[in-house]
Amino acid sequence: MAQEDIFKKLVAHCKEYGFVFQSSEIYDGLGAVYDYGQNGVELKNNIKKYWWDSMVLLHENVVGIDSAIFMHPTIWKASGHVDAFNDPLIDNKDSKKRYRADVLIEEQLAKYEEKMNKEVEKARKRFGDAFDEAQFRATNQRVLANQEKWDQLHTRFSNALNDSNLDELKQIIIDEEIACPISGSRNWTDVRQFNLMFSTDMGSTADGAQKIYLRPETAQGIFVNYLNVQKTGRMKIPFGIAQIGKAFRNEIVARQFIFRMREFEQMELQFFVKPGTELDWFEKWKETRIKWHRALGFGDDNYRFHEHEKLAHYANAAVDVEFKFPFGFKEVEGIHSRTDFDLSQHQQYSGKKIQYYDPELGESYVPFVVETSIGVDRMFLQVISASYCEEEVGTASGEKDTRVVLKLPPVLAPVKMAVMPLVKKDGLPEKAREIIDELKFDFNCQYDEKDSIGKRYRRQDAIGTPFCVTVDHQSLEDQTVTIRYRDTMEQDRVPIADLKGIIGSQVSYKQLFAKLN
Ligand code: ATP
Repeated sequence: MAQEDIFKKLVAHCKEYGFVFQSSEIYDGLGAVYDYGQNGVELKNNIKKYWWDSMVLLHENVVGIDSAIFMHPTIWKASGHVDAFNDPLIDNKDSKKRYRADVLIEEQLAKYEEKMNKEVEKARKRFGDAFDEAQFRATNQRVLANQEKWDQLHTRFSNALNDSNLDELKQIIIDEEIACPISGSRNWTDVRQFNLMFSTDMGSTADGAQKIYLRPETAQGIFVNYLNVQKTGRMKIPFGIAQIGKAFRNEIVARQFIFRMREFEQMELQFFVKPGTELDWFEKWKETRIKWHRALGFGDDNYRFHEHEKLAHYANAAVDVEFKFPFGFKEVEGIHSRTDFDLSQHQQYSGKKIQYYDPELGESYVPFVVETSIGVDRMFLQVISASYCEEEVGTASGEKDTRVVLKLPPVLAPVKMAVMPLVKKDGLPEKAREIIDELKFDFNCQYDEKDSIGKRYRRQDAIGTPFCVTVDHQSLEDQTVTIRYRDTMEQDRVPIADLKGIIGSQVSYKQLFAKLN
């Protein structure tokens, strides 16, 4: 199936099964804003818990906060967002569609990469076991020609971004003959900078009102609380502050479902270190974070690191963790060495001394910061895309059928166990309820008595429920039930008393945490 079709199916599935709805749908929606439904919110909360506990519970020197979305407007001046939180935009004059100039060029780079990979895959098939990929890449003429194009474009692009040279960005788009996907034309406007922050007014009187911003990242809430947390928590460097919260960006192009939203949620850690040690910590956090992703079991090959073409104004090292979405490798998380930029700026703009007295050195300094920043919604999309499967299965009457199943890691599944009475009489519903009442404090359970057992299994497969328990007449006699496993569809007869142990061990966060050491 084409990757585009898979993506469309994912979006439709998310809606049909109560994961993600378009915001304000009955009013025809609001661009790039989404709501999470009854299953979506559970999955999202589980992702957040996995992140939060892996940071705050597993690291003695990391604590959490929850800062306000509204902050003093000078914060955004100090952080550089008022002057520099821009994206370069370009319009196609025929389709009137707006694009990010940097994204158009990145897509062109990806096209060259794709061409090279296709050649490699063709050759791999031809040569079989004897295939030497490194040698092929170093000698094949078509691969080399595309590699040269990629290298040239990459250098030009990096230089243009680093020099904020908007004319050059436009020239690259023209030279590379990049066309608008809608109109097919190359009739482009000039490239302009566009600030991504939303603003609003705070205060009741028109002349007393103050222009404030909706935060475009949660990080600044951590920086301005650095002193509060360090002092009240008696924290010693190195230490970190974690936060999960909403962020807002007036994105120019927002066409990829929850990949790029105007209101989204971030999970950020700012880790404060001694100056000069930041690059070691940067490497450590890179390793820690990739392990966190890989522990979910979506396949190590589906992740890669991507070095930034242009370092942000505050960074001395930066890398993205990219995941292979149905529309290609894209960023899910950024890891940045932010130097002492933010704390120094706030020190300057607030006039308050923001420093750490290091008892070992016997001196004070402004700490350096390593940040890990991941979008909850992009992580959600990663989990859904990696888990969505269509499988051919046999039916009871011997025909072939397709089942849609979300092979979610059991820890993240919205519902852990569905309990189903075989029939709606003879005391079976009561027995099923009894089981739920016993286990509902341990994990999320759902009762389902409608339709045939087969249909009920499919409904649970579609939302990723790892265990279905069926109560039948035998259950009343010997206190056993059938447990059906989502991925293998195998069934076992087990004592009701064993359910807590069987399911509990599979849905515990310890399962994932054990892989993080
Ligand atoms: P991009 O290059 O895709 O715009 P970014 O580099 O600006 O992303 P950061 O500022 O590093 O992103 O933000 C950290 C994380 O926040 C990203 O890795 C992503 O997961 C998430 N994020 C950023 N912007 C959005 C958005 N508009 N919608 C959803 N998630 C977002």
